[in-house]
Amino acid sequence: MRTITVLGATGSIGGSTLDLVRREKGRWRVVALTAGCNALELARLALEFSAEIAVLADEGQLPALREALAGSGIAAAAGPQALVDAASRPADMTVAAIVGCAGLAPTMAAIAQGRTVALANKEALVSAGEVMMAAVRASGATLLPVDSEHNAIFQCLAGNDLDHVRWITLTASGGPFRDWPLERLHGATPAEAVRHPNWSMGAKISVDSATMMNKGLEFIEAYHLFPVGTGRLRIIVHPQSIIHSMVEYRDGSTLAQLGPSDMRVPIASALAWPQRMDTPCAPLDLAAIGELTFRAPDEDRFPATRLARAAAEAGGGVPAVLNAANEVAVAAFLDGKLSFTKIAAQVAETLGRFAPPVPTTLAEVIAVDAEARERTRETLARNAGACLT
Ligand code: NAD
Ligand code: MG
Repeated sequence: MRTITVLGATGSIGGSTLDLVRREKGRWRVVALTAGCNALELARLALEFSAEIAVLADEGQLPALREALAGSGIAAAAGPQALVDAASRPADMTVAAIVGCAGLAPTMAAIAQGRTVALANKEALVSAGEVMMAAVRASGATLLPVDSEHNAIFQCLAGNDLDHVRWITLTASGGPFRDWPLERLHGATPAEAVRHPNWSMGAKISVDSATMMNKGLEFIEAYHLFPVGTGRLRIIVHPQSIIHSMVEYRDGSTLAQLGPSDMRVPIASALAWPQRMDTPCAPLDLAAIGELTFRAPDEDRFPATRLARAAAEAGGGVPAVLNAANEVAVAAFLDGKLSFTKIAAQVAETLGRFAPPVPTTLAEVIAVDAEARERTRETLARNAGACLT
């Protein structure tokens, strides 16, 4: 029996992970489950999976969690340190599926223990970059990518030497607005942005997918996971989301990983690694799909990928600023306080105004993230004021 901790258990990735665990209950024992603020849902999962401990980020919800778990023998805790403690508990597999930089400290805690970490929480790697990769090397942790593109690349590399790689190509669906003209994009609403044509995901990543910032964050993620340099990493729009990414070798062979648009496929690949496990996902019916098409990304309509590539090239604290500004801008958009095209504009503005120091520790990454958030909020407040007058 293998032990597993799921950070972000109540989310889209957390739910897909637990769905796979549920189907093979005899194979897994759940150590810790964590969530942001939904005490009842977290308690329900902790009871179903007989977890050792359930942890919320929001301390205000701890009484509700305690009450829901009373008499079960399952420990309850809350707050940032409790999340880190839960992630530090011994487990054969830690699934990092918190959304945003909020997941950085617990993910780093699991890495520091030398654990096998199935990483969905791309914002953590984008922000911490070299600091996280150095921690992986220092502790001997194993980082298994869950993001479908990176999981595809990981499978296509199959341990091959990166020197033989000519290109790593990240595929992008293009999101719900891929065919919208720029004039129409200005008025795109949150409801339209979260309605992704191919994938069902949390709200934040759905908006990132609509702006293409998701592909920008994934570019930086790939840059760290597969260090071939930015010159050998590229993005191609593939609307059907069947090819999840590709590796072209210098001998002329291109390997691609194909599959349905169901995150349980890459999650299963990480959970069972280096073996394989069954999933209930629909088999690929290529005759029904008919065509796989490709086109170059349009960075005039979707400038986020250009910003992210520049951030990867700048390195240091710049990707953390890009990520923090984006998190704040996406939250403002979802709140109805910022128009769709202003998300990338706001990220560009924060990047232009804040030259961060190069972080070398987790605390320094968190400080850059906090300052970038503060500056972005200030600009948003100023611009909102300007609109009112
Ligand atoms: P989600 O919003 O559905 O779930 C997020 C989880 O994090 C929830 O359990 C939530 O309670 C928890 N959480 C939120 N704020 C928190 C905080 N401040 N502190 C602690 N926990 C908090 O998001 P998701 O779609 O499951 O995405 C999770 C991560 O996986 C993201 O980084 C996303 O980019 C990545 N990812 C998701 C998908 C997908 O298909 N959903 C695909 C690839 C990568
Ligand atoms: Mg992805």
